[in-house]
Amino acid sequence: MNQVVVIGAGQAGLAAGFYLRRAGLDFVLLDAQTTPGGAWLHGWDSLRLFSPAQHSSLPGWPMPPYRGYPPADHVVDYLAAYEKRYEFDVRRPVRVTAVRRTDGQFEIATDGGTWRADAVISATGTWWRPFIPAIRGRADFLGRQLHTVDYGGPDEFAGQRVVVVGGGNSGAQIAADLAEVAHLTWVTRRPPRYLPDEIDGRALFDIASRRQETGGVAALGDIVAVPQVRAARDAGLLRARPLFDRITESGPAWTDVVEPADAVIWCTGFRPALGHLAPLQLRGRDGTVRTDGTRVVAEPRLHLLGYGDWTGPASATLIGVGPTARAAANEIAAQLTRR
Ligand code: FAD
Repeated sequence: MNQVVVIGAGQAGLAAGFYLRRAGLDFVLLDAQTTPGGAWLHGWDSLRLFSPAQHSSLPGWPMPPYRGYPPADHVVDYLAAYEKRYEFDVRRPVRVTAVRRTDGQFEIATDGGTWRADAVISATGTWWRPFIPAIRGRADFLGRQLHTVDYGGPDEFAGQRVVVVGGGNSGAQIAADLAEVAHLTWVTRRPPRYLPDEIDGRALFDIASRRQETGGVAALGDIVAVPQVRAARDAGLLRARPLFDRITESGPAWTDVVEPADAVIWCTGFRPALGHLAPLQLRGRDGTVRTDGTRVVAEPRLHLLGYGDWTGPASATLIGVGPTARAAANEIAAQLTRR
């Protein structure tokens, strides 16, 4: 029996651990993977952080310096060192399959036994639930279809006709990655909107935090112009076309014009990985889980951390998750004291 079980030991789970320790609570972290690093273990080769190391730190201990924009490996090493430094009790690989309510506590069922806790922080991220929109004819396409999560790098697409769908950071970075080796068609729902070149991850957290007053990051643009994206854009290699109407056997079609393609890469985002919470029946009629900060309104000792702005401003970023984690840990401490 623990006071708190944290599900997921990626950056969000570790930030929670830092503040739970500070609040003097007894906790354990359960993580489905065999090694530390969360989703950063799975990016493609050229993936770079959109902010320098000194602006990508978790609470308490800064990310070690890196010249330029760090690759995913640097983040993995940092997260591994972080959990070691604080000697967190992380159990791996332990996949949580179901969280239930029993006798005023939570029962956390996993593939490696059952835990019980007074409070739960779910910090399972989004990488594990890739999202592809419903597009007419998608199943008919005879070429290859991948999502961001399946993309390993440009080599296997050399000389191929590749359609990259999506105007966010993943779409722009993967399009830039492929621009010189493949016959690229980049497709975005609306014209690509680059953040001003001088804005990178440093500013994102501040802007997201002030989003109520300013309209936030979304008001400025969707794409951080990291050096690789900026270079491809400035060389005229990133010309976006509007979204196609349907897909045929041979490729996407804009009204009657079909563009033959060998592969379509869907960079169309993610959904929160919350399947383990299904027994609690938290979703309302509109399919969303109502939260107040990180606290689930229908289940006040369950907190959702790191899934996006709806669970805390910029909480799905390295620099942004700390303040939200602190608020969640402090609230849990107050809840358990009141009990
Ligand atoms: P994750 O890293 O996904 O960690 C969740 C952990 O929970 C994983 O280890 C997973 O195995 C585990 N888990 C999942 N389900 C279960 C379960 N049922 N039981 C037990 N364990 C489970 N952010 C930045 O700050 N800077 C950037 O430059 C940046 N670039 C990004 C680029 C891309 C392409 C993407 C997709 C995201 C980027 N982000 C960036 C956003 C963010 O930092 C990452 O998405 C981050 O990995 C989210 O951390 P997390 O801890 O919430 O989730």
